[in-house]
Amino acid sequence: MPLFDYRCGCGARFERLQPSWRSADPDCPACGDTVHRLPGSVALTGSARPPAGPDEAPTSWEGTGRGDREYVAAWRRTLENRQRLAEKYPELSTKRDAIAAHEGRFERAPLTYRELAGRAATSGDATRGAAEAARARRPGAANAGTSGGDA
Ligand SMILES: [Zn+2]
Repeated sequence: MPLFDYRCGCGARFERLQPSWRSADPDCPACGDTVHRLPGSVALTGSARPPAGPDEAPTSWEGTGRGDREYVAAWRRTLENRQRLAEKYPELSTKRDAIAAHEGRFERAPLTYRELAGRAATSGDATRGAAEAARARRPGAANAGTSGGDA
């Protein structure tokens, strides 16, 4: 059985053995919300499985735990591991980049994990990183950057 690491929006974090990879995410023992699995922290007690790929990554802002920094970083690591593995095992490769958000301001230019993680690394905060990415997509955003101070 795989052991999964979970993190809830309320801050609770816990581990749980699940019958299979397809098991539904459990409820948070602290607040009762449905929690998100941290994909980078899986310990296997059964057979090996490749890291999750772009098709399995959450594709909405809600799905990223509203830009939960740790969750986004875990996905980025997972996707990087997958990409490294795909260099050796081409059957694991996917053409497209994993999308972290494609709603609202990202409808025309989806936000990729690569971009989100890059911006989060600069600002230290995935939510702020996403806000910066959204600002960068606004028309006329080219001169709204460094000159105006810290917005
Ligand atoms: Zn909770």
